[in-house]
Amino acid sequence: MEASVFEKIWMSPAPSKIIAFSWQLLYDRLPSKSNLYRRGVMLDAGNQDCMWCAANLESGTHLLLHCDFAQTVWREVCKWLHLDIIIPPNLFVLFLWFYGASSNKKVRKGFLLIWHSTLWFLWKARNVRIFKNVIKVPREIVEEIKVMSWRWSVHRLKISPCLLYEWMQLPRYCFRR
Ligand SMILES: [Zn+2]
Repeated sequence: MEASVFEKIWMSPAPSKIIAFSWQLLYDRLPSKSNLYRRGVMLDAGNQDCMWCAANLESGTHLLLHCDFAQTVWREVCKWLHLDIIIPPNLFVLFLWFYGASSNKKVRKGFLLIWHSTLWFLWKARNVRIFKNVIKVPREIVEEIKVMSWRWSVHRLKISPCLLYEWMQLPRYCFRR
């Protein structure tokens, strides 16, 4: 299953640095607290908690998928896409679920773009919280995902571009164009 994800992961129109980020994440190479500790970078064993819930180890999968904070973002994003999400055990399963959510190639590319974008903006929100003490709520992150994925789609999807308000209201219609 993992091999097939790595094979498909570049099929998205997201900028290559965003895809490279998802790639790193799937290989568990993200500089999350638990990874830094494992590599000996962070020496304080007590400081590996997720900074959103403070109740779990900050691994990539927890931070970007299983934490209640991340789940709220995924649920909102899926509501926007008219997809009924059940939070899966890991990001590989989530990827394949997004991949399989439409048999239409254009819609599939759109879904994958959103999959990458959601991970990217969750990670960015985590970083501004840690490094700049800026606290974002899930709604703001979902907004960033919608707006930036629209910008990326205008540049990268081979479709006639939708207007931002169309993208916000009817993403699946825009993917198909
Ligand atoms: Zn958490």
